[in-house]
Amino acid sequence: MTQKTFTAEEWMKALGGLKDTYKILVPVKEGDFHNFRPLVKGEGPDFDYQNTRLSPRSLVYPQSERLFEYSLDEDDPDPNILKEDPKDYSPQAVIGIRPCDAHAFQIVKPNFDNPEYRDPWWVRRFESTVLVGLGCNEPCSTCFCIQVGGGPFSEKGLDVLLYDLGGRFLARGLTKKGEELLGKAEGGNPAGDDVVKDAEDLAESASAKIDVSIPTDKLKGKEINELFEAPFWEDVAFACINCGTCTYLCPTCWCFDIQDEVMGKLGDRIRNWDSCMFPLFTLHGSGHNPRSRKAQRVRQRFMHKLKYYVDRYDNGVQCSGCGRCVRYCPVNIDIREVARLMNGYKIN
Ligand code: SF4
Ligand code: SF4
Repeated sequence: MTQKTFTAEEWMKALGGLKDTYKILVPVKEGDFHNFRPLVKGEGPDFDYQNTRLSPRSLVYPQSERLFEYSLDEDDPDPNILKEDPKDYSPQAVIGIRPCDAHAFQIVKPNFDNPEYRDPWWVRRFESTVLVGLGCNEPCSTCFCIQVGGGPFSEKGLDVLLYDLGGRFLARGLTKKGEELLGKAEGGNPAGDDVVKDAEDLAESASAKIDVSIPTDKLKGKEINELFEAPFWEDVAFACINCGTCTYLCPTCWCFDIQDEVMGKLGDRIRNWDSCMFPLFTLHGSGHNPRSRKAQRVRQRFMHKLKYYVDRYDNGVQCSGCGRCVRYCPVNIDIREVARLMNGYKIN
């Protein structure tokens, strides 16, 4: 395992050199929030950030993606044939992704890449992506990664983990992809034992700052129907305005809709993110809607993340504890409270 230290200046220089091999994506401040953007000389990056408002899931799974194009013109050499839209799958490196967001890719992977089904677009882009994580020295009050199998310096899903030691970074290679990237990164020095010890102390003190208990251990043993019929759903959903913010910011939500858009005789088949919080999501062609009520949709979101996923994949809960939905829900609906309700629910 490669362990190298870089001064902040050396690290920036190394990133500049890596641009020959990878599209380098870094956190950049835009207005009040941060987003991942291609590294441009003189524009950021800002590694002294908490996290991006939108999760980096769009770097592998774009919010809107053209899958196929076709022609309805009978004079066209290939009328009415779907043709795959050409895409750029050249290597990209996401530098400074937080460990919860890297863990999130592992949580969604069984949905996109499993023995029965492989989503070619997700898989190709995921395979061409290197995740270079940045541990969280100061987790925020809404973070609960530790409670869902991660941690502020968790290596889950990462190819490289960076420790910010104040003016210098320790970079630790974790996978073949990560070792390759570090092998191409110019400069830096092999890390001594003292640096490694400082990094381990830093990780320990960061973990101690997440002082929250969100038990999820009993979810798997619960009867689906009992949780489904539990009396608390109306109360949980009462304030929800079905804005969909929680699902659009979330790194572990994956629902989409596929639509055809036709202009004249040319058509595109497009995949767009969708959300279980919207009534149209489940509206049938017949006009029937099995989740026409708000409480049904809110229940679906939490049952999917905290029960259906748990039962189906045996991979923990469908949540990496990033805390975005807690921070940005306009009416303060809190998945941590719902997890406590579900985990502790007993029929009297
Ligand atoms: S962010 Fe809050 S109000 Fe908006 S859909 Fe989600 S739970 Fe409802
Ligand atoms: S459910 Fe909320 S806390 Fe969990 S991964 Fe999604 S946005 Fe983050």
